[in-house]
Formats: sequence, structure tokens, C-alpha cells
Amino acid sequence: HAKEGGRNQFHFYTGLMNIDALERLNLENSLRQALARNELELFYQPKIMLHARPTTADRQAAAAINTAANRDSEWHYPLVGAEALIRWRRAGELVPPGRFIPLAEKSELIEQIGNWVIDETCHQLKKWRRQGRPELPVAVNVSARQFRAGNLAEVIAASLQKYQVPAHLLELELTESILMEKPEEAVDLLEACTKLGVAVSLDDFGTGYSSFAYLSRFPISALKIDQSFVRDLGHRSEAAMIADSIIGLAHQMGIVVVAEGVENIVQLDHLRQRGCDQVQGYLFSPPLPAGDFTQLPALFSPARGEPGHAR
Ligand code: C2E
Ligand code: MG
Ligand code: MG
Ligand code: MG
Repeated sequence: HAKEGGRNQFHFYTGLMNIDALERLNLENSLRQALARNELELFYQPKIMLHARPTTADRQAAAAINTAANRDSEWHYPLVGAEALIRWRRAGELVPPGRFIPLAEKSELIEQIGNWVIDETCHQLKKWRRQGRPELPVAVNVSARQFRAGNLAEVIAASLQKYQVPAHLLELELTESILMEKPEEAVDLLEACTKLGVAVSLDDFGTGYSSFAYLSRFPISALKIDQSFVRDLGHRSEAAMIADSIIGLAHQMGIVVVAEGVENIVQLDHLRQRGCDQVQGYLFSPPLPAGDFTQLPALFSPARGEPGHAR
């Protein structure tokens, strides 16, 4: 009777899909308006470097601040970049990307949104440059459909040109699954982007379908350990095994490894001891509006008290 159950299930899901379709249409329409009405906004989450050995000046600055204690958790780490994360300010409420990006992915809307994200990031980079802020690279997330459109390098070149921003200040984050859809084309497209001077990271690394053969052919400069592995550091040994392997893999490839979703000192200490280069997470800072990001110090110390304060 499993087959019968299957058939019933089919009807059941068909019914649900009708409701879904209606909701989707509503949401799609308001998202379209959101774009037109400037209701989309970028937040910026700091990327923190774990081994503070860039320049003697930086090291001396860090040493001067770390007078009292030498416990790992007391150390201060330099801010080395940011990730731009989209938000929708909808009737006073801040809607996270998980609630509208997957839907936008189903239509050409995601291309408009993706182009807006690149444009807005370059615009912000220009503003920070004009204010004389230290120049930190900002990474944008690229969705599957946006990548499939095939004109990513042109879109990026146009925005860089429009705001007169040097290409090394813009970075891309893509998942391995996006690249593996059509790996040969992905190599070409990524090379067109890196030729401009834009660095590429593999996001959510370890969760998708990956091929070691292709990994070495993609011009990538960083692997980002998915937060699901980071979350379980300290109480699930498989998570530690996976995180450690990704760190080793990145370093074998001669590229940087970044951990995302670092919320506590246990996770930080593990990652730092294994040689992870950079981290992002609530332990240091949630994603922030541009104005708040500007107020951040050049050197960070892990937040005191409870891990995972509100976004
Ligand atoms: P992602 O690129 O992997 O981004 C990391 C997510 O982890 C972000 O969620 C960030 O706010 C969250 N996060 C950062 N630190 C912590 C932490 O310590 N603990 C926990 N639990 N979470 C942390 P967010 O902003 O909700 O974005 C979710 C996903 O939506 C992103 O995952 C990315 O795939 C997508 N996304 C965000 N912005 C854009 C965008 O502009 N374009 C596209 N195509 N996708 C975007
Ligand atoms: Mg990302
Ligand atoms: Mg990620
Ligand atoms: Mg993720």
C-alpha cells in the first residue's frame, strides 16, 4: 500500500502547491515593488583575521592592547573585510534573506536583486573611500541563477567602473554546487571575474556536491567552512574532523580558509589552534547596517558574556 500512499500524497502536495503559488505570487509582487521602492538594504558582517601577523605595526598595536592577559580569548584580532548580506525592510520589519531569496531564485527577479547587490556594494565602497576609511574588501553572495545568466563579469565591471572602485575591494561568494552545475563554463566565468581582479570564495563549503578534480581548476582564493560544522565544534567530533580537513585542504591548495557562524570561545579556540585564517560570527559581530559597520574598531576582541547575541 506504499504506492497508494504515494498517489494520495501526490494529490495532497498538489493542493498545497496551489496555496504556495498564490503566496508566491503575492510575495513576488511585493518583492518587485521593494526593489523599485528601495526597501532592500545591505548589512555588513566583519571578517576577522585570526593570526595577527600582517605588519609589525599591527602586531605592535595588538600587543599594546593586550597588556593584562595573554589568554587566547583575550587577544585582539584585526578586521580584514566584510560580507554584504541582504535585508528587506518591509513595513518596519527586517526580513532576512532566507525568507525571500529562495523565492526570488525562481524568477528573473534574482538577477535584478543580484545586480542591485553588486551595484550597492560598489556604491558603499565608494562612500567609504571618500570618507577616507581603511579600504577593506567586501564580499557579495552570488546565487545560482545569477551565475547561470552568464554576464556576471560584465555586471561587475560596469559597477566597478561606475563608482571608480578598484576590483580588489570586491569579492564573490559562490557555493560549490553552483559551480558544479556546469563546471567547464564555471571555470571560464570565474576566470573572467578574477581577471578583473575580483577574488572568489567557496561558500558553505562541505555541504554541497564537490569535485576535487575541479576544485583545483577553479580560480578560488578562499574556502568558507559552513556554519553547520562550526556550530558542532566542541561537542561533535565529526564536525571537528570535517572542519580540520577543510582547513588542511585549503592550506594544501595555498588558499585562505574562513569559518562562518563562530558564536563562542570554544569554537574560536579550536579554529585558531588548527590554523583557520579568518572567522565571521556573532562572537565578534552580527551583520550591521553600513553606518554601524563604519563605527567598528580596527582590532576586535571576542564579545563577553553569552554567545550569539541578537542580529
Ligand atoms: P551565507 O552567505 O552563508 O551567510 C551567512 C549567514 O550566517 C548569514 O545569514 C549571517 O547573518 C549568518 N550568521 C553570521 N554569523 C552567525 C553566527 O554566529 N551564528 C549564526 N547562527 N548565524 C550567523 P543571513 O544574512 O540570514 O543570510 C543567509 C543566506 O542568505 C546567506 O548565507 C546567503 O546564502 C543568502 N544571502 C544573503 N544575502 C544575499 C545576497 O545579497 N544575495 C544572495 N543571492 N544571497 C544572499
Ligand atoms: Mg556568504
Ligand atoms: Mg556561508
Ligand atoms: Mg551558510
